[in-house]
Amino acid sequence: MTNKNVAIIGGGMVGLATAWRCAKAGHKVTLYERNTCGSGCSGYSLGGLVPYTPTRQHPIAQFQRASLALYPQFSDDLLAQTGQHIGYQRAGRLQLLSTIGKRESAAHDLTLNPAQGKLLTQTEAKIKFPHVNVPEYGAFLCHDTAYVDVSATLTALKQACLNQGVTLHENTPISVADIEADFDQIVVTAGIWSDEALATHATEKTATTPMVGHGLELKLPAQTFNHMVRMGEIYAIPHADGRVLIGSDTMRPETSADWLPNQHIVESILTAAQTMLPCLKQAKVTKIWRAPRPKSSDRAQPIRHLSDKIILATGHYKIGFCLTPKIAADIAAEL
Ligand SMILES: Cc1cc2nc3c(=O)[nH]c(=O)nc-3n(C[C@H](O)[C@H](O)[C@H](O)COP(=O)(O)OP(=O)(O)OC[C@H]3O[C@@H](n4cnc5c(N)ncnc54)[C@H](O)[C@@H]3O)c2cc1C
Repeated sequence: MTNKNVAIIGGGMVGLATAWRCAKAGHKVTLYERNTCGSGCSGYSLGGLVPYTPTRQHPIAQFQRASLALYPQFSDDLLAQTGQHIGYQRAGRLQLLSTIGKRESAAHDLTLNPAQGKLLTQTEAKIKFPHVNVPEYGAFLCHDTAYVDVSATLTALKQACLNQGVTLHENTPISVADIEADFDQIVVTAGIWSDEALATHATEKTATTPMVGHGLELKLPAQTFNHMVRMGEIYAIPHADGRVLIGSDTMRPETSADWLPNQHIVESILTAAQTMLPCLKQAKVTKIWRAPRPKSSDRAQPIRHLSDKIILATGHYKIGFCLTPKIAADIAAEL
């Protein structure tokens, strides 16, 4: 391997991790961030690491499962590099089954891969998880679900970049055209703004749609519950300090620059969360936010080579945190 002069455009989860891994692999790395690192979509993530069902064979599901398997090492490496914990917890997920079809499908998945989890009847789940409003068709307990603390992860990644010698330029918006002559390799990780950063290299295929998502933070006594609970789109992630993060929604594409939460959607998310976890009715809502998640037209490819020099790694929509360790490792390995 020859050491390369590498530029990364965009200091979100994907860009920071890629810069760090590339620098660790011996490359000379410069990271450009137009605001501050983590100020884009990544700072608004809930940090859930939820695998697709074990039998789903779509390429993105396989990539995601491989990436989740890298998380313990990713977390340990960050700790060794920075002394900072990112709050990685493989706490598991109680997936509530609202229809007979969902129960049958979970049962089918389990016959093919029994190590993934356990199917519980309504009575079994109620005894084991008394704080949860378990539906008639019971629940699936998925062992492989995990989460990280978003703020701690982004802080540790920025520190890891600096410790590993990455040259970091914040408050520096840049486009590929501005720096093309100066670098051997340019990795664009600019989220929903990637086409602007690609400038003349942007095509119909590189377009990214902003898909707005909401998040809520509530406060409960610590340890009220310890695992993720999910029903359909809505999930609750408990943290050791009593914070419970609630997400999220799937909305039509929204190109508005307005990041103000939609009160109607917030209320529907909160009501759904309180239905699955009645203890949340007593919880104080401490934060509400909404932010655009980058969705590409070709989600099967988390890393795209636009030319010998330009790599695009964006469009990861709801699972950017899940995909990051493998995206960063793969890019670093191939340079
Ligand atoms: C409410 C919500 C909940 C979510 N929950 C989860 C979850 O539980 N699990 C999960 O895996 N994912 C989740 N996601 C999705 C996840 O947050 C995203 O997929 C991921 O953060 C995208 O990271 P990124 O680095 O690609 O983009 P971003 O974080 O948006 O980073 C792009 C960066 O590029 C910078 N930039 C833009 N243009 C330029 C330029 N010209 N020059 C320099 N810099 C530039 C921006 O300022 C920004 O900092 C959630 C998202 C939201 C909104």
